[in-house]
This record gives sequence, structure tokens and C-alpha cells, in this order.
Amino acid sequence: MEKHTVSQLKALTSDTEVTLQGWIQDIRVMKNIIFLVFRDHTGIAQLTVKRDSWKGINLESVSRESAVSATGTFLAKGVSKIGPEILLKVLTVLNPSRSPLPLAVSDPVNSDIETRLNHRFLDLRKREVNVVFQAQSKLLWGIRKFLSDNGFVEVHTPKVVAAATEGGADLFRVQYFEKETYLNQSPQLYKEILISAGLNRVFEVGPAFRAEKHNTVRHLNEFTSVDIEMAFSDHNDAMRMLEGSVRSGISEVSSSMGKELAETGHNILIPEIPFPRITYEESVKYIEGHGEKINFGDDFSPEQLKILGNQFHDFYFITKWPAVLRPFYTMPDPANSEFTNSFDLQYQEKEITSGAQRVHDPQMLVERFHSKGLREEDFSFYLESFMYGMPPHAGWGLGLERLCMILLDLPNIREATLFPRDRNRISP
Ligand code: ATP
Repeated sequence: MEKHTVSQLKALTSDTEVTLQGWIQDIRVMKNIIFLVFRDHTGIAQLTVKRDSWKGINLESVSRESAVSATGTFLAKGVSKIGPEILLKVLTVLNPSRSPLPLAVSDPVNSDIETRLNHRFLDLRKREVNVVFQAQSKLLWGIRKFLSDNGFVEVHTPKVVAAATEGGADLFRVQYFEKETYLNQSPQLYKEILISAGLNRVFEVGPAFRAEKHNTVRHLNEFTSVDIEMAFSDHNDAMRMLEGSVRSGISEVSSSMGKELAETGHNILIPEIPFPRITYEESVKYIEGHGEKINFGDDFSPEQLKILGNQFHDFYFITKWPAVLRPFYTMPDPANSEFTNSFDLQYQEKEITSGAQRVHDPQMLVERFHSKGLREEDFSFYLESFMYGMPPHAGWGLGLERLCMILLDLPNIREATLFPRDRNRISP
């Protein structure tokens, strides 16, 4: 028997015999008729049973969320309001669900986020939750396509590392046999070594770990970082690749899922490129013009970024950040070394990406280590790759969950993360 999905039913002629596999979401028992609300990964259908002609299992004993196989005839002229209708002939319970459910999949009552995350597999059975991760997959697919079309090679670099990418305290320590090592904060150093290795343009999609103690709606302790590095390039080249990637990712979501997202309340707008650019200094002036005081080298607070973001429709770049705010590998601005050839991509007050042209001169790099209080011997494996003709290069790192959160206007980054890792949560 050929299996069908709910979404395939509308293309069939009436009375076609079909077999669907999914879950029983609800059962409504009437005097002469029983309606089962059936759900698979593509939608909802109604299984209709006439009591007097039913010879199958006791349907009233089937618990909600049991996995089932249902065979029956498709009724093209069915009158069900919830979806296509099937006159049920055989129902097989493939695996029963326990009851009561710790989390209702179909009830309109919204559980709190902690309960939802504790029972995430059930939470994800809800269409409006599930759709977020389908969109995230398309978003990444669109970014991958754009990068691949532009000559980038996808790479995978170690996550257990001997040296901290940026030094600092935001590191998780890992006992690695006899040695103490760290979970990588970012693939930065390895991406740059691969530039010296002649791969020319590389990208990586992988986990990044930050032992930051803050617990906000936009920080995770493990997130998915989309990183690129490109040889013989500067910050302007990297910004162009970033705009193209974001637009391609959003276009992919819109073209493949626009209708489904609209049905679940998400309106996807494809941004126009190029995105506007504003320097750090111009941003300071603008924000100060609205009554705020900023000292040179201060980072902007979310409130200040809100003021700045109000003048832009959606995405915008803040460029030329002060050197004190950027990591050691960031290229100083040749016109004024207090500033750097760097940028952040913002969406209103939310930062999505940091990037820059990188230092390629080993002498300058050593000076930058010292100015940030880092020991060059901790980075000798990295520094060596700069001694033998390291090309000028640039790149960026983008938080996938942040971009997804912005795209779908989600209130909390945990909504864009299958199994969030935060200050309090390491399970499931
Ligand atoms: P923030 O200032 O928002 O804490 P950051 O300056 O530490 O971010 P970078 O180290 O520049 O961020 O990382 C690049 C991108 O990675 C960020 O723009 C963001 O999208 C993502 N990112 C960084 N830290 C986190 C985090 N803790 N949780 C989720 N995403 C993050």
C-alpha cells in the first residue's frame, strides 16, 4: 500500500484508498460517529468512523499522541473544517502514548517556556513550534547556497582547543586526558590558518561555546555560529558577502515556506541590499543627539541601540569600531589606529554578526597580542601560519539563532533553539 502524507491528499481523486502515518491528536466520540483528529509532519486530517460499520480496534482506548497507521478512503468532498477527510477502515496503533500528557500538543492553552523546554519533543510536535526549525533549516540552506556559489568551501574545525580564541574568562574548561583544554568560543583562529593554507574562501557552521553568566533573551551558552573567512579581501568584501548571505537565506525561507509561515502568523520580508552603513562615531553623535552620554570606547547599551536602530528600516551596519572594543586579530584603520576596519550587522537593537578585516602582518599581530594582555606563546600554532605569506583577509561570525529569532520575530532566542543551553539548563 502506497503511503501518503496529509499535504498530498488534495491532489488525489475522491475514493482513493490511502495509508497515512502519524499521531492521533484528539478523539471526538458522538452517538453514531467518531472523529479522530490525525496529524503528520505536513498537516491535519480528519478520520471519520461510522460506529455501526466499524470492525476495528476499540477507538475509545486510543490515547492522544499515540503513533498510528491509518488506512481508509479519501473523501474529496468531505465537509471537515480541520482538514481533508478520510473514511477510516483500519487503524493500527504503532506505539501507544502514555497519558496524561505532560504537555498538551493541541490544547489552546500555552504552557510556560520552562515546561515546554522540559518536554521539548512534545512541544516540537506543535505546528507553530515545528515550523520555526523548518524555517531555520531553509535559512541556513539559502546561506550555504550563496556561499557555495561564491566559491566558499565548507570546513569543520576542532571544538576542543588548547588556546582561547580571544582570551578572557568566558570559557568552559574541559579535562582532555592529562591536559586542561577549552570548548571553542569561535572558529576564528582555525579559519585564519585555513586562509594561510590556501583554501581561499572557507565557511563553517558549528557550535560556539560561551561561559557568559548573563541570562538574557538573546544569549545562549552554546549557539550555532555561521563563520566565513576570505583571502585577499577586506572588510568591505566581507560586508558584501554578509548582505548576500542574509538576503539569500531569507529569500529561501520566503520562497519555500512563505505560505506556511503566513498561516502561522509570520510575515517574511526580503531585505533590500546594500544595507545602510553608519560608523561608530556617527552612531555616537546620533545617540548623543537623543540625550544619551557615551564615552569614547564604550559599547552601546540595548536602549542606545534602540534609539539608533529606529532610523533604519531593518538591517544596518555599524562600522569602524574603536580598537579597544575589538579582539586582537582585528585590523586597525590605516587612517587612525584608534579605530578598526570592523563592522557589526544590526537589526534594530539586536546584533547578529561581527566581522572585520584581520591583521595579516605577524609583527603587528604580536603587538596586538601584547596590547590585549595575551601571551604569544599560547598562540604559537596560530602565529606560525602568519610567517609564511599569510594573505590579507577578512571575515565574520553570525549567530544563526539570532538571525532566525529576528526573521520570525520571536521574543526569546530559546524559541529558535531546539535544546537550549543556558545558565540553568543542560537537559534535555
Ligand atoms: P553580544 O555583544 O550580543 O554578547 P558578542 O559581541 O559577544 O555578542 P561575537 O563574539 O561578536 O558576539 O559573536 C558574533 C555573533 O555570534 C553575534 O553577533 C551573535 O549573533 C552571535 N552570538 C555571540 N554570542 C552569543 C550568545 N551568547 N548567544 C547567542 N548568539 C551569540
